[in-house]
Amino acid sequence: MNNVYLSLGSNEGDRVKWLKKAVSFLGVYAGKVTEQSAYYETKAWGLSGQPDFLNMCVLVKTILPVTEMLEAIQKIESKLGRQRVIKWGPRTLDIDILFYNDIILDTPELVVPHPYLEQRKFVLAPLAEIAADFTHPKLGRTVGELLAACDDELEVKRVVF
Ligand code: ADP
Ligand code: MG
Repeated sequence: MNNVYLSLGSNEGDRVKWLKKAVSFLGVYAGKVTEQSAYYETKAWGLSGQPDFLNMCVLVKTILPVTEMLEAIQKIESKLGRQRVIKWGPRTLDIDILFYNDIILDTPELVVPHPYLEQRKFVLAPLAEIAADFTHPKLGRTVGELLAACDDELEVKRVVF
């Protein structure tokens, strides 16, 4: 079995509904979701003036190779109605691969570990709930250490619904 950490985010419509549906679709198309964080609310990163995001992280145990994992998450994004209109713009659902075991991959389609995760509190905060001791294979520091060192100024708020 492979361990894949994913980041899920939504800032359009019923965000909790999109995230819950995404988790259940992951169980169908990707593998077994064995851990999930709480939800974290954040201002949109990269492009301001759009609705706040709700983000979370999950751990999926999967037999899928990493490229098939990307296909699975893209299928889920499109089934849940995501439209790729504006770069970094509003989206019903975004799923990113953060880590896949401890592989390091850099191709045009797929970069793993996710290149900006250490700069983003909305990724690190939920990830630290389920993977604080996981060591980033490229940076050699744990998720907990990366969160403590992260100077992202966007506030993240843990929310329970
Ligand atoms: P973003 O997540 O940066 O807002 P998109 O979700 O539209 O943007 O993703 C654009 C492309 O990023 C995808 O088509 C995919 O091929 C590529 N990509 C590269 N690395 C990853 C990764 N680790 N997880 C998900 N997508 C990735
Ligand atoms: Mg994405």
